[in-house]
Amino acid sequence: MMTEQVALVTGASRGIGQAIALQLAAEGVFVVATATSETGAAGTVAAIEAAGGKACAVKLDVTNSAEVEALFKKIVAEQGRLDILVNNAGITKDGLMMRMKDADWDTVLDTNLKGAFNCMREASKIMTKARYGRIINISSVVGEMGNAGQVNYCASKAGLFGMTKSAARELAKRNITVNAVAPGFIETDMTAVLPEKGREALLQSIPMERLGSVEDVAHGVKFLASPESGYITGQVLSVNGGMYM
Ligand code: NAP
Repeated sequence: MMTEQVALVTGASRGIGQAIALQLAAEGVFVVATATSETGAAGTVAAIEAAGGKACAVKLDVTNSAEVEALFKKIVAEQGRLDILVNNAGITKDGLMMRMKDADWDTVLDTNLKGAFNCMREASKIMTKARYGRIINISSVVGEMGNAGQVNYCASKAGLFGMTKSAARELAKRNITVNAVAPGFIETDMTAVLPEKGREALLQSIPMERLGSVEDVAHGVKFLASPESGYITGQVLSVNGGMYM
């Protein structure tokens, strides 16, 4: 159990972030669940409370560094601590490179990569003072292997690996671990848009012959977030059904 610990999970309104919030709360962690609107994560909080856990829903746009800074200050003021940060918020704006608009590159990099940086920068100040912390960045299998039609998304997710390892080196002596989780293809809103033909081809490329569940990913995050994982840092935990080894 991680009772009395406090976690911030970005993008916790649905999908993987919601499952992470639920699993951490089940361990006794107070979860600050964020979404891009005030009430976006309210459903997640209701589900946590119904299961006997504790959480609050907060608005956060991870691309807005002032908003990020203010939220971290608020968490310290209200909860007195921050033990776990899960950088899960992420978006796609897919398209072939030749036709990709500047805006599609910029918003994806701003959200997936700079957004995680904005949150890590603030978390590291709090965790350094406390001499304890667990930071987990949600990357993707396509950051490892590449994917046609996703140069922007893959660049952002590959960037998270370098950022994770660098931050792990900076923060190790403060007893703060920084790791990445790289999910394969998971059943969420993000993959619901895949055309049936593409879905079949995808399944053939996965040794486990199924998409992953959000719980599969959350389990990996919970493992890295636990106090017992204190000697694991700068690593990438792949949760991909064997799709990429
Ligand atoms: P999802 O269902 O589309 O949910 C995305 C979440 O991110 C939502 O909570 C959304 O909030 C939030 N978000 C979007 N833009 C934001 C911003 N600027 N600031 C703060 N929050 C923002 O996504 P998912 O499929 O669960 O994916 C979660 C993470 O796993 C992402 O980083 C994704 O890249 C990664 N991943 C997913 C898969 C997959 O197969 N699904 C595979 C590998 C990696 P709102 O509800 O307010 O929009």
